[in-house]
Amino acid sequence: MKFSDMALCETLLKNVEKLHYKSPTPIQEKSIPHLLLGKDLIGVAETGSGKTASFLLPLLQYFHLNPRELNEKRKIKALILAPTRELAHQINDSISRYGKGLGLKSTVIIGGVGPNPQLKEIKLGVDILVATTGRLVDFLRTDEVDLSLVEYFVLDEADKMLDLGFSADVERIVKKLPKKRQTAIYSATMPDRVDELCEKILTDPIRVEVGIQNVPIDRIEQKIYFVRTEKKERLLAVLLDKENIKKALVFTRTKEAANQLVIDIARHGFKALAIHGNKTNGARMKSLNDFKKGEIEVLIATDIAARGIDVPDVECVFNFELPNEVENYVHRIGRTARAGKNGRAISFCDMDEEEEYLTAIEDYLEFSIPVDENLPYLGGNNVIKRTKHNKKRPQQKGGPVKKTNKRR
Ligand code: AMP
Repeated sequence: MKFSDMALCETLLKNVEKLHYKSPTPIQEKSIPHLLLGKDLIGVAETGSGKTASFLLPLLQYFHLNPRELNEKRKIKALILAPTRELAHQINDSISRYGKGLGLKSTVIIGGVGPNPQLKEIKLGVDILVATTGRLVDFLRTDEVDLSLVEYFVLDEADKMLDLGFSADVERIVKKLPKKRQTAIYSATMPDRVDELCEKILTDPIRVEVGIQNVPIDRIEQKIYFVRTEKKERLLAVLLDKENIKKALVFTRTKEAANQLVIDIARHGFKALAIHGNKTNGARMKSLNDFKKGEIEVLIATDIAARGIDVPDVECVFNFELPNEVENYVHRIGRTARAGKNGRAISFCDMDEEEEYLTAIEDYLEFSIPVDENLPYLGGNNVIKRTKHNKKRPQQKGGPVKKTNKRR
């Protein structure tokens, strides 16, 4: 299927072409035709699948077909809820790119910044509102935002929204929407809570699914080093240097470890910033932008902060600490090998503390991650062999990730 086979206007087709999208991704191919017909939809897909365009293109087409009257004030006709501030900004940026030339106005309402500029924008008139839940609920309490004319509602990353405890806020917001509207919910996984939410707020929905098998695992060269925790920082510095990596995304499990690593890696001469939940909105956006522009070489992230962010051209993902949830391994390494490119994922595992995480990851992947025992720069006595784990598994040969959307 081509974009031109879909009932999209010329402006949208031109914008997509300018972005060099050759054909719709699977989630786009499955979602867009139903959304264009006005159906409610559950999209089981995650960041990297192209899900944003799958709900934005039909939404923008809706505005193309239902233009404002001449001199009519802009009113909020579409609402998109996102769990994180970064994702809200990213969606708004996508609206600008996909909707260029349609004359629409969108804005972002998020916490962590002063409310007044946001209120000013709303008063001036907005067609599409992208929001995180907390700030929007504040504005609804004081009647500063009117959602009574919303016709198109999208809830993005619903599973994460509920994981973060926003379910009551989502319900408060939905109560303010008209009953007659089109609604789409996107979620990477479908735990029962998301199913229940879908049942409450969707009408006769179509369900489409692509799942996490979409992570291009065969294009990601993975390897693992068995290394003691106290040696990890040095190993990271040596690899960044020896392998000449200009853009690395490094994952830690905790915010404290991320902060510490920024300091430690700076001692080796690498510019790094951290992105995690304790950072202000401004600091998170700055880190992300500096990384995108190549002004820092290393972005250090925790899992929650990193989900939903899209950074092009990440050469290598480092798992400085292995994730304790197996699906996060796939989420993390899926930040590389974007848009048809190849990528690398290098993991560090301290056998005393993290072996059970590694076993769980390999059980999930159904193959063993190749081990690199070449640690000469750390001294010979640092080579650690795997002891407890002796299951025989195939090595990675581009095997697919297990097709599942259930959390384990
Ligand atoms: P998303 O899952 O919406 O965050 O999109 C992930 C990345 O895929 C973004 O960088 C998009 O620009 C890109 N993308 C979305 N749709 C397509 C497409 N049809 N072809 C190529 N790249 C795409």
